[in-house]
Amino acid sequence: MHRPGDNFENSAPSPGRCGAHLCPGDPARTGRRRAMPGRQPWRQVIRGRRHECVFRVVDTHVHYGDYEGIPYISVGFEQVLEATREAGTEAMVFVSTFEQLVPGPVEPERILRGNEDLLRHVEREPDCWMMAVFHPSMPEVVSQARELIRDEKCLGLKCGPWYHRYDMAGPAGRTVFEFMAEHGVPAVIHTNDDEYDHPARILRVAEQYPQARVLLAHFNSLHPHTGHSELLSQRNCPNVWLGLDHADCVRYGLIEACVDIVGADRIIYGSDAPCYYPRSIVAAVTSTRLSSEDKQKILAGNAERFLGRKLTGSRES
Ligand SMILES: [Zn+2]
Repeated sequence: MHRPGDNFENSAPSPGRCGAHLCPGDPARTGRRRAMPGRQPWRQVIRGRRHECVFRVVDTHVHYGDYEGIPYISVGFEQVLEATREAGTEAMVFVSTFEQLVPGPVEPERILRGNEDLLRHVEREPDCWMMAVFHPSMPEVVSQARELIRDEKCLGLKCGPWYHRYDMAGPAGRTVFEFMAEHGVPAVIHTNDDEYDHPARILRVAEQYPQARVLLAHFNSLHPHTGHSELLSQRNCPNVWLGLDHADCVRYGLIEACVDIVGADRIIYGSDAPCYYPRSIVAAVTSTRLSSEDKQKILAGNAERFLGRKLTGSRES
């Protein structure tokens, strides 16, 4: 169990060290990395002393665009890019434009156009990648996805079953998993407490496709907030990870509680920017009482195992 103060009591900070062990991001372990211009590395303050622990950050859940004109969420690509870089992010994965996520019936053209827009943006930025928004019942979207995943900038699929109204536990969900298994690509899948993408529905299918890697977004959207973790712990699904991706992750002790249930290897950082400032969601992880090693897994290491590749901050070269 993680008790308040665990990581603090055991720490005897000295420059470059996290108490009992070397920080995963410590220059002595990783080799000194050149900082990206204008980027502030993440540092912790323990007992009022500045702590030389630098974390790598990979953001697996970023959007941009117009979300039905809703202010403070509808934000353009450039602004989102800037805010995500300001959070010390080494690599970011855009999972959709907001125009592609319309609650209710959506025409294929909107999804196709959004995917083209995503690719056009990420291919200009060395620290950006994308997931192709997928719809299992739209042949033109499926064939576009088949093309997109051949591009090194497209890492896999993004599914929004609630938005696009298909059941992940039904034939449409099976089509998603068959595509993933056939092409060896991972998928970020939106989750919520509903009849389309409740995590229990997705886990039931994921268990039958162990080769398909899945990131269940918004891991704290159930009540109780540990619901996703409880469900995952009851299944044999080493191919499934849980995404933070929501401001609820700042609740006191919640991330620690989920780590106690599923382990630090199963939780992946994502900001859901521009719904939130990425810096505030990174801080939700660094503020926990988890060990620095666990924080580093959540902020980058697990993401790279889910994505099946290391996303180097190519802007540094
Ligand atoms: Zn999102």
